[in-house]
Amino acid sequence: MQQLKNIEVLQNVPLDTYSFSQIGGIADYLALPKNETEFITLLKTAKQNSISVTVLGQMSNVILSDDGVSGLIIVTEKMKEININNNQMTFGAGLDMITASEYAMRNSLSGLEWAAGLPGSVGGAVFMNAGAYGGNTSDNLVKIRALDEFGTLFELTKKDLGFTYRMSEIQRNNLLVTQATFELSPRDQNEVKAEMDDFNQRRIAKQPLEFPSNGSVFKRPNGFYSGKLIQDAGLQGKRIGGAQISNKHANFIVNIDNAKAADYLELINLVQTTIKNLHGIDMELEVKLIGRGLNQ
Ligand SMILES: Cc1cc2nc3c(=O)[nH]c(=O)nc-3n(C[C@H](O)[C@H](O)[C@H](O)COP(=O)(O)OP(=O)(O)OC[C@H]3O[C@@H](n4cnc5c(N)ncnc54)[C@H](O)[C@@H]3O)c2cc1C
Repeated sequence: MQQLKNIEVLQNVPLDTYSFSQIGGIADYLALPKNETEFITLLKTAKQNSISVTVLGQMSNVILSDDGVSGLIIVTEKMKEININNNQMTFGAGLDMITASEYAMRNSLSGLEWAAGLPGSVGGAVFMNAGAYGGNTSDNLVKIRALDEFGTLFELTKKDLGFTYRMSEIQRNNLLVTQATFELSPRDQNEVKAEMDDFNQRRIAKQPLEFPSNGSVFKRPNGFYSGKLIQDAGLQGKRIGGAQISNKHANFIVNIDNAKAADYLELINLVQTTIKNLHGIDMELEVKLIGRGLNQ
C-alpha cells in the first residue's frame, strides 16, 4: 500500500476503539479517504494487490471478529460533505445521520425526523435501509453515488435499488455508497424539532444507551417483535462472558464488561436455537458479522 502517500492508511488498528460495541480484533489496514477520488484509488490499489476490502461507517451495526479483519477496511468518516439544492440535500457517506437530520431541521425541511438519535453514517443507513418510528432511509431517498469493487462509479436512482425492510440491491450487489441525495419538504422548524425531541426521548426510554451495543441484533420476524420473543422465552438478562441480553430491550446485546465477539455469538446462538425450538421461527440477524471466521 506504499503508493498511497496522500491517503491516510493505518496499519494494525485495534477495532474495539472504533466500534460502537467496543469489540473487535485488529485490522491489517484501515484507510480514511477524504473524498470519492481517494476512495476509488484505494479500491483500485487493493484490487491490483489482491487485497480484500471491507467498507464501514461508524461500526454501529456490526460484530467484528475477535481475530480481526484481514485486508483493508475503508472507513468513510472523513467524507462528510453537505450540499443543499432547493429541497434536495446531498450528504457524503461518512456524515452521521444525526447531523444530517439536524441539518434538515435547521433548514426547516421535513423527511429525516425519524433519524433523530440514529447512530451511524449516511452510507451505513442507506446500505442497511435503517429505519425507526415509521420512517426508513429509502422513504425520501432520490439517488445515490456508489462504487463497485473495481472503483467504477455509478449514479443510481431509488427505483434502481429495490428497497425493502433492511435490504436492497446495494446489499445484494455489494455496492459501496459514497453519497446520498434526499428530497425533503418544507415544514415549520419548531414542529420538526418537537418531533425529533420526542423520538430522542423515546430512544432514551427504550434503548440501553448507557452501555456499548450494536443496535437491534435480530430483524423483525414477520408478525412478531424480536425483543418480545426473546423476553417471553426467558432470555432477557442472560449473560455470557462480558455480553448480556439487555434488561432494558431484549433485542439488544450490551457489552457490560469487556465482552468479546465470541460472547455475542454464543448469545446469538442461544437465542436462535431457543426461539426455533419454541416457535419454529428463524431469527435472522440484522447485525452484520465481519472479519476472520465470520464473514457472512
Ligand atoms: C444504540 C443503537 C441504536 C440503534 N437504533 C437503530 C434504529 O432505530 N434503527 C435502525 O435501523 N438501526 C439502528 N441501529 C443500527 C445502526 O444505527 C444502523 O444500522 C446504521 O445505519 C449503521 O450505520 P453505520 O455507519 O454504523 O454502519 P456500519 O455498522 O459501519 O456498517 C453496517 C453495514 O453497512 C455497510 N456499510 C457501511 N457504510 C457503507 C457504505 N458507505 N457503502 C456500502 N456499505 C456500507 C457495512 O459494510 C456493514 O455491512 C442502532 C444502533 C445502535 C448502536
